[in-house]
Amino acid sequence: MEGRKLYIIITCPHSGCLSSTGFRTCDSRAGEAGIMLYNLFHKIGIPCSLYLAKDDFGRPILRSEVDLNRKPAKVTKWYRKVQRQIELNNKVGMKSVILDCHSFPDEGKKMMIFRTPGVFDPLMDMFTDLNTSLRGMVELVCGTDDNFITKQATLLNIPSVLLEFNEYESVLSKTELKTACEIIVKHTLSPTILEMKTKEEHKSVCADLHSVF
Ligand SMILES: [Zn+2]
Repeated sequence: MEGRKLYIIITCPHSGCLSSTGFRTCDSRAGEAGIMLYNLFHKIGIPCSLYLAKDDFGRPILRSEVDLNRKPAKVTKWYRKVQRQIELNNKVGMKSVILDCHSFPDEGKKMMIFRTPGVFDPLMDMFTDLNTSLRGMVELVCGTDDNFITKQATLLNIPSVLLEFNEYESVLSKTELKTACEIIVKHTLSPTILEMKTKEEHKSVCADLHSVF
């Protein structure tokens, strides 16, 4: 199976934003990160799809209407499109990998990486590189089954990771975001990304990390 060609699926389920509200309704920087990753894969000829939180008419899908990273997303057109791409990849013998992009608003870390239950080993190298580049301001945490996209990926035997980028350019500059995306691309293409581990192993490895969400 290791010889299978990779197909990268980038999801940004909370990237649907309303520009006019004074309060936070979305992951305002997740789309920027997703587009950057998409362009980097595209540039080096790696097949890739990007799923921003938009409907067929380009209107934002708001988290307040439907959270595309929770179970109710399963019946949405948006998730069905992701599903269709996975099925197509299986049909033609390509290996799907999912990068689920989010952003967060606090002033602390520059990035967070959520280990997907069932997939963790390749992320240690990704984390180390990112943390070195972003001067120790990256946190590695254990994701949970509440995160629908990564959970579904594991059920379908697809490696995935949930990536959180800081929303403030004053914390994570444009240059740092680009460097981070380049590191993510490099590690996503590493052969070890194909490794899948059992949930039990994930739990024991995550024992020293705190769970979030
Ligand atoms: Zn999010």
